[in-house]
Formats: sequence, C-alpha cells, structure tokens
Amino acid sequence: MREYNYDVIILGGGPAGFSAGLYCARGALKTAIIDISMLGGQPSNYLELENYLGFKKIGGYDLTEKFEQHLDMFGADKFPMQEILSVDLVSTPKVIKTKEGLFKSASVIIATGASPMKLGIKGEEEFLGRGVSYCAVCDGSFYQDKVVAVVGGGNSAVEEAIYLTNFASKVYIIHRRDELRADKIIQQRAFNNQKIEFVWDSVAEEIRGEDLVKSILIKNTKTGDISELNIDGVFPYIGIIPNVNYITGQIEQDSRGFIQTDLTMKTSLDGVYAIGDVRNTPLRQVITAVSDGAVAGVYCAKYVQAQKEVTV
Ligand code: NAP
Repeated sequence: MREYNYDVIILGGGPAGFSAGLYCARGALKTAIIDISMLGGQPSNYLELENYLGFKKIGGYDLTEKFEQHLDMFGADKFPMQEILSVDLVSTPKVIKTKEGLFKSASVIIATGASPMKLGIKGEEEFLGRGVSYCAVCDGSFYQDKVVAVVGGGNSAVEEAIYLTNFASKVYIIHRRDELRADKIIQQRAFNNQKIEFVWDSVAEEIRGEDLVKSILIKNTKTGDISELNIDGVFPYIGIIPNVNYITGQIEQDSRGFIQTDLTMKTSLDGVYAIGDVRNTPLRQVITAVSDGAVAGVYCAKYVQAQKEVTV
C-alpha cells in the first residue's frame, strides 16, 4: 500500500474542503484533499444558486468547478474516489487508511458534509430508484407530466418542489405542520406556483406500488385520519445527517452527530478541525461552508507551524 505524508489532510472535497484546501496550500502547507466520490460536494447537484455573493445566479456544478480551478492555482493534491477504511485522529501523526493508500499528516480537517435523512417508512427503501428519490435535480426529468410528492417544509423541500414543477403536472408538498420552515422568499414562490398543492399537518406513513410507486399513505397529525394520494414519485427532503461514520467516537459530537467546534473550527482534539455541514453550525449554506474553510485553513496552518517549531 502506498504511503503519503502531508501537513494537512482534508476529508471531503465540497465547498468547505475546497476553501480550506486553498487557505492551507496558499499558507505553504503540504495539502491533500480526499473524497469518497468525485470532488464538488452536494452543491454540484444543485440546479442553481442565487445567494452566493457575487453571482446573481449560477449553476451548482459551475460554481464548484470554479472553486476547484481556484484551488488548483495553489497546488493541493486531490484524491477522489477514495473509500475510507479507518481514521486515527488521536495518534501523531494522524493516519487515514483508504483502499488505495496510507495517508499520514500533522492535522486533519473534516469536511465530509451531510446526507439526506430517511423517512424510515415502509416502501421507502423498496422503491428507491423506482419512484423514491432524494435528488430532484438528478431524477426530476423522469416525471414529465406525472404527479409527485415532496415531503418536508424546509428550504430543500420547497426549492426542489418548485424545480419539480418544470416536469411534473402536479407537486404535493406534504408537511407535518401548517407553516413552512423555508425562507419567506422561497415560500412565496411556492405559494404562487399553480402546480403546487400543500398537504398540511401530515406525515408520510407508507409508500405503495407494484414495480413503481403508485401512492403514498399519509396521516393527518391533528385528526389522525389516514388518506392515500395517488402519485408517481416521492422526494423526501426532511433534513440531513452528518457523514461521520468513520470517526467512531474520537471527537465530541452533538446529539445528532454533528461535530462540535470552537470559533477557530477546532474540534475536541488538537490538530483536528471540522467545517461546513458536518459541524454543528447554525447555518448550512455554501457561503458559510467556504467561510468555515477559510477559518480552519488559517488556524490549521498556525497549528502545523507551531508543531514544526516544537520538533525543530
Ligand atoms: P431543514 O431546514 O432541517 O428542514 C427539514 C424539514 O423537514 C422541516 O420542515 C422539518 O419539519 C421536516 N422534517 C424533519 N423531520 C421530519 C420527519 N421525520 N418527517 C417529516 N418531516 C420532517 O432541512 P433542509 O431543507 O434539508 O435544509 C438543510 C440546511 O440547508 C438548512 O440550513 C437550509 O437552510 C439549507 N439550505 C439552504 C438553501 C438555500 O438557501 N437556497 C437550499 C437548501 C438547503 P419542521 O419544520 O416541522 O421541523
């Protein structure tokens, strides 16, 4: 197995990881970015962003491509498609084992983001890829003139429901309360969209079908009544969970698993930082992820420099 040595290894190549990589490499740290898939992170699947400062409207993929090109100016090494087998954040140096290599470094920045939460209901797993999808941008076009349901009331649910109206003849938004969590401006767009129908105070109970999804059972949380909506697709957008399986209790996490950090993005372990959606941040946006990356990059460089001075 090939061995690599770095000052800092960044786990995760999304906006947070790109930004940290830029600050670390520009700060003269020997920097590597490791990702389980291609670099780009979640936003590379977003259709469009209109709240990233400096770009009135930009495709998610276009923006992350610009991030990567910018990072490349400073020469961080990139290791996409690396399955992480184990991570030792406590040892000196820190050790990350992937299927293809043994990576050793003075510091680690965790930027592995978060993944969609599952509804945990009957039919959800069974119909995955046959009517259940967690990515409207990837699968929306399969639902031309069909009826779909989005579950959730946050920004993701409402934005993706609006996007799905480009294809579907009707989009239900099934939400467990009678008020959305999404930003007001996004709510207003959904309220103005004739193809969207809200199903308030309701939770999804079961997804039904044969080869493909045919309906969803929903329960009214106020009356307890169960009803069945005929639909062709379900898009659950009920929030996210942090991608932290590989950490196995080495650093402090909150009750939902998000990594606790201080203001410098340092975790409970020296030399280990966490940034972007994976940490217990109050706001999960591309702009806050890149901001986290900048802070971690600067403080990580200080840490590595101090370690080098100690060992000289
Ligand atoms: P979110 O903001 O946490 O919203 C999750 C939604 O799902 C909430 O409405 C919640 O209901 C509902 N929900 C949670 N668990 C549920 C369950 N078991 N059954 C049914 N409904 C459930 O998650 P998100 O929309 O994925 O957004 C994640 C983060 O990314 C947020 O910080 C968001 O602002 C950000 N984001 C921003 C943009 C943008 O600014 N353009 C776009 C996408 C995402 P309650 O409201 O009742 O809790």
